[in-house]
Amino acid sequence: MIAPGSTIGILGGGQLGRMMAIAAAQLGYRCIGYAPQGDNVAEEVCADFFTNKWNDAQAMAAFAQKCDVITWEFENVPVGPLEPIAGQLAPHPRALETAQDRLNEKRFVEQLGGRPAPYVPVAIRGDLTEAVERIGLPGILKTRRDGYDGKGQWRLRDRQDVEGLSFKGEDCIYEGFVEFDAEFSVILVRTREGDIRFWDSSRNVHSDGVLDTSSLPAGELIGSQVEEARALAKKIADALGYVGVLTLEFFATKQGPVFNEMAPRVHNSGHWTIEGAATSQFENHIRAICGLPLGDTSTIASTVEMTNIIGKDAKTAHGCLADPAAHLHLYGKAKPRPGRKMGHVTRISRG
Ligand code: AMP
Repeated sequence: MIAPGSTIGILGGGQLGRMMAIAAAQLGYRCIGYAPQGDNVAEEVCADFFTNKWNDAQAMAAFAQKCDVITWEFENVPVGPLEPIAGQLAPHPRALETAQDRLNEKRFVEQLGGRPAPYVPVAIRGDLTEAVERIGLPGILKTRRDGYDGKGQWRLRDRQDVEGLSFKGEDCIYEGFVEFDAEFSVILVRTREGDIRFWDSSRNVHSDGVLDTSSLPAGELIGSQVEEARALAKKIADALGYVGVLTLEFFATKQGPVFNEMAPRVHNSGHWTIEGAATSQFENHIRAICGLPLGDTSTIASTVEMTNIIGKDAKTAHGCLADPAAHLHLYGKAKPRPGRKMGHVTRISRG
């Protein structure tokens, strides 16, 4: 067990790290962060922060020396520089390796019985033409690496879109467009001993590839597909020997749950758990990586709605507090940009 009073290292400086550090402080841990220069909003709530490049081996070693356990909040942390400190990391970096490449991720999930949208790897223009022939239109071209929140994705509706796309060649996959009825996520937490708990699955609505709202109850269709989706999530977590919070996103279709992607970390669609569950995703992640017993993941509200504040100036966001059921979380980001997550509001009812 990592005893309270010890130091947790967090790789990445975004809002997920910020909320993780707040949960850790409550349990008596101090957090120190590590991320390259940028708007590292976790820094404000960390006891110390290393602003260094990922491949600065000396800085990474100095950071690790100060930590009793190290985790991440950002899934695109390059794996190479983590090799010397792998023994201190939870989850194990093999989870990052798997999830960082969409092609590897889909193959891995298929081997475990999961069903992704039809896909074909694409690297050059000719591959794209062939992929469109095979999979059909509409579809989505996605970069294999470094994509998130709809970035690195091109939606192709018809032949004109394909011809008009300036694609000079890059490691991508072309995915068939899934005619889904709803989207949902499975969020679980797993201990080193293999104890697993799930939070209720929220219904997630995206806008331009970015999560807009997560709500509960999620409805009958999602309810009927959660068991199958959880069984896959458990297989993945066990296969990776995963420790901490793991998220899988699914499309609910008439043919059952279609796997979209996994995030080896706490997730935006789990922010509602701060007020809506007995124990939040952030607290249970800290408990799992520190070897503490897990908290109850039950939903403690009759309805929950989490709405992201995207691309808007956070200065006026307090207006939502006129509703006493609203809980406001601002991430401390100075400048709004289109598509940028500035904060979120969770409304719960206990009726
Ligand atoms: P991703 O970054 O891959 O999770 O994509 C972000 C969002 O884009 C998803 O949550 C969906 O709303 C949409 N999307 C991604 N891939 C597909 C697909 N193959 N079919 C339909 N919608 C998709």
